[in-house]
Amino acid sequence: MSKIPKSHPRYNSLMTREKIKNAMKSGIVHETGLIAHGRGEAFDYLIGESTIPPAENAEKAAAACLLLAKNPVISLNGNVVSLSAKNCISLAKEIPAKLEINLFHRSEGRIKKIIHELKKSGAEKVLGANPDAKIPGLDHNRGLCEKEGIYSADVILVPLEDGDRCNALREMGKKVIVVDLNPISRSSKNAKITIVDNLIRSIPNIERWVKTLKKQDKKDLENIVSNYDNEKMLREVLKFISKRLNSLF
Ligand code: ATP
Repeated sequence: MSKIPKSHPRYNSLMTREKIKNAMKSGIVHETGLIAHGRGEAFDYLIGESTIPPAENAEKAAAACLLLAKNPVISLNGNVVSLSAKNCISLAKEIPAKLEINLFHRSEGRIKKIIHELKKSGAEKVLGANPDAKIPGLDHNRGLCEKEGIYSADVILVPLEDGDRCNALREMGKKVIVVDLNPISRSSKNAKITIVDNLIRSIPNIERWVKTLKKQDKKDLENIVSNYDNEKMLREVLKFISKRLNSLF
């Protein structure tokens, strides 16, 4: 790790960059993951690097949707594991949900390294190493998944999804929840619930909502999900950003 003084005004952001850089060096994050992270950082800057009200609402709806699911799965890639392994494991235990690795640039070596990292962080069972099914409409590697996990899931939480896979999963009739700082990405527009927040903040926020909503009736949870409007939420995010930018100078 490079030495970053705690007094640096961008300490958290720089430490996150260090983490993701080191995860790339150890083979957990693909090179292009650094570019995806940079795009995320830019949008995080625009929202003020904090959880904004529309994201909080989406996190609440996501928690309700995950609690209502019969077979919820959290889909993980290298970036997610490098930044939020422990938080994802904790959320999965709380729901409870399964964990499955799904990589855009899949290699057996990277899958093994990510599983090792997740086990080191406390995960018991991690799916993804032995794919026995395919998401229709996606080319070979990206479509690989496990029958007991993503393939049969009714609700999938995919922190950092690519637009094609989000579409393909929706085509399969699944409820897709994405965490994406870019409110105008294809994933954001196509998901059932889009959380425009940094996954570092978002996963613990969803877990907090899961703990709160667990005590509520099924009917209340269904109301939260059915009253949630993703398009309206994305418009609110864009309004928030433009208002914030206009007020800066
Ligand atoms: P589309 O959904 O339009 O196809 P894309 O596939 O090109 O977008 P990727 O290159 O896969 O998008 O990038 C993943 C997305 O993840 C980016 O839009 C980026 O904003 C977002 N992102 C990166 N890091 C984080 C993070 N820490 N938290 C939340 N979102 C992030």
